[in-house]
Amino acid sequence: MGSIKSLKCRECLKEYEPQFRYVCEECFGPLDVTYKELSISRHTFELREKTYWRYFELLPIANKSNIVSLNAGLTPLQNADRLGNRLGLKSLYIKNDSVNPTFSFKDRPAGVAVSRAKETRLKAVGCASTGNLAAATAAHAAKAGLPCYIFAPSDIEHVKIAQALSYGAEFVAVEGTYDDANRIASMIGDKKGIGIVNINMRPYYVEGSKTLAYEVAEQMDWQVPESLIIPVGSGAMLNAICKGFEELHSLGLIDSPKNMKVVAAQPRGCAPIVDAFKHNSDEVIPVERPETIAKSLAIGDPGDGIYVLKRLKQYNGLAEEASDQEIADGIMLLAQTEGIFTEPAGGVSVAVLRKLVEESKIEKDERIVCYVTGNGLKATEAIIGLLPKLNTIKPDAAEVSAIIRG
Ligand SMILES: *Cc1c(COP(=O)(O)O)cnc(C)c1O
Ligand SMILES: [Zn+2]
Repeated sequence: MGSIKSLKCRECLKEYEPQFRYVCEECFGPLDVTYKELSISRHTFELREKTYWRYFELLPIANKSNIVSLNAGLTPLQNADRLGNRLGLKSLYIKNDSVNPTFSFKDRPAGVAVSRAKETRLKAVGCASTGNLAAATAAHAAKAGLPCYIFAPSDIEHVKIAQALSYGAEFVAVEGTYDDANRIASMIGDKKGIGIVNINMRPYYVEGSKTLAYEVAEQMDWQVPESLIIPVGSGAMLNAICKGFEELHSLGLIDSPKNMKVVAAQPRGCAPIVDAFKHNSDEVIPVERPETIAKSLAIGDPGDGIYVLKRLKQYNGLAEEASDQEIADGIMLLAQTEGIFTEPAGGVSVAVLRKLVEESKIEKDERIVCYVTGNGLKATEAIIGLLPKLNTIKPDAAEVSAIIRG
């Protein structure tokens, strides 16, 4: 049996039974899952399955039989010596989450939320999505045998729509922004009792993302990294990663993460959190019309924005943005040094890392983890126009010789 205890208000700390509820009825604050006291050692996980479900006791599912798993997680932590060399860094690692079953980190939060939906006997699930969550939720719903409703802007990448439709989801393409899609999903979800994974199931959803901290800690032999570069849309993942490191510390598995430096990376065309950080403000002013090739980060009114700002204060944080060109350069730099092909969100992480090293805000010898959260195959539109034109030839040896010098 799992060890979920309650839902606790992040603002006023009021506690609730862990039910179908996501805001505090006293103060409308968001709710977070708490757990019963646990005794766990580093060895507890060693021999377990190579998925994020190896951390079952720390996830909000009461009964293992309700787990809906596509075997996501425990993705590579790649020693990025070639990229590090190029940037002048001695100890750089890429957490390569682009190789999950639906090709983004969203298999973590979606898998946990759909499992919880199954456990609480909801009849259908869904999500509001910038693209990747659509595929992740639809795939897990298929495995659970539950109907799935996707609400997303109509202009997201074709592959992401094709994925969700193939998994059998009902796709509601909204002519508008992500925030518009989110509003519609929220209304429908509450009215029809659908488990919208990132809205009315958000307390469970965010728990999936914290496994991005657990895995990095375990893969680094339970050392705390010195810097984290995290791409930010709603901010839920950044917040969850911080929660993950804190939980490991309170379980006695790692040293205190208090000296860790947390970096929020956003695309220039939608960087409300970076803007607030740079103006030293506690208030996140929504971006009405996001415009960026990093569509998975195009959330103008980030749900966890103010909590990201708090985390940045707490963890010696920094926030930086990258232009479309810098993002494209970041994608190609990562691909050509490390053999990892990421979508623009990963390009944002790499571009921001590069910028902070150039500005000496990140030191050469820091132990850095750069989170690469989605796969390049899902967003080739973003870079196809920037790549060298294809040389086509007649199948003739002389023509080939003319092209391949040396
Ligand atoms: C959703 C997404 C993010 C941002 O996650 P948030 O929790 O919304 O901040 C980052 N990268 C990729 C590839 C995503 O799909
Ligand atoms: Zn409250």
